Amino acid sequence: MENVIILGSGPAGLTAALYAARANLNPLIITGPDLGGQIATTTDVENFPGFPEGLTGPELTEFMQKQAERFGSRLEFDTITSVDLSKAPFTLTGNTAEYQARSLIIATGASPRKMGVPGEKELVGRGVSYCATCDGFFFKNRELMVVGGGDSALQEGLFLTKFASKVQIVHRRDSLRAGHVLQERARKNEKVSFIWNTVITEVLGDKAVQAVRLKNVQTYEEYEKPVGGVFVYIGHLPNTDIFKGKLAMDEEGYLIVDGKLHTGVPGVFAAGEVHDKWFRQAIVSSGYGCMAAMETEKYLASLE
Ligand code: NAP
Repeated sequence: MENVIILGSGPAGLTAALYAARANLNPLIITGPDLGGQIATTTDVENFPGFPEGLTGPELTEFMQKQAERFGSRLEFDTITSVDLSKAPFTLTGNTAEYQARSLIIATGASPRKMGVPGEKELVGRGVSYCATCDGFFFKNRELMVVGGGDSALQEGLFLTKFASKVQIVHRRDSLRAGHVLQERARKNEKVSFIWNTVITEVLGDKAVQAVRLKNVQTYEEYEKPVGGVFVYIGHLPNTDIFKGKLAMDEEGYLIVDGKLHTGVPGVFAAGEVHDKWFRQAIVSSGYGCMAAMETEKYLASLE
């Protein structure tokens, strides 16, 4: 029987673990499929305070993990596939074990949104990617396409210029959502160009990506363009499938919490991008992790 189980090992989960461990709750983190979550797939983290020179996402994850473990947090490399929150203690069934806990912090985060076009699913890992950090290296001197107009598309598109001969950013509108600094950097980079008002309607290739079919959303013109790879950065969806019908969520699937991160079920808290669809910053998720752990401590004390 655990005092508190933390689901997820991104900035929210690891910070919750740090605070819960320092409150002597001996927390168990169940990592989920990817240790570190989305930040671990990020190339350069330049806006996490305390690191004036910046650092990589995997480095930040490693530091947070070490700091949480230093105070007694334990990590279990498992993914939960179903939960019973109808009575305490809560029961969680994972791929490798079953767990019971008096309280739960859900920090399962969000995952990249897929384009949902023919060829995308079939060619994942063979030219279609959602992670430049993981896969960029394999695309030396190739022409790449990056989809999206937000910070992620620009930041990861710029990172890909280290390998690619050319990076074309395909955006469905004619103005970017990304912040000013990244926009400037992208515009100044001679390897980067933009294809405006355009979406990908199909990814083409047999064993690997060879081309994409593009559609101009204003003129409806469709055409094919050869590319060596497609990196997709068009937002995120919350990882809340296992909580459907068990916890309150909005129409997009984000968990609904009160100002102190309580879900509707006493003893179950949420932290990070699983409920925060507005800020989506590592530092914000860390802040939520801290809050959730402090509330969990109060909740457990109230049971005694
Ligand atoms: P985002 O800001 O939601 O941007 C998603 C982009 O994808 C938008 O440009 C959107 O177009 C486009 N898009 C959405 N659905 C699409 C579809 N079905 N087909 C084609 N295009 C589609 O997501 P993000 O860039 O991943 O950023 C998420 C959050 O993380 C943001 O808050 C961002 O500021 C933050 N972030 C910050 C940094 C940094 O500070 N350096 C780096 C990365 C991420 P529209 O513009 O038309 O909606």
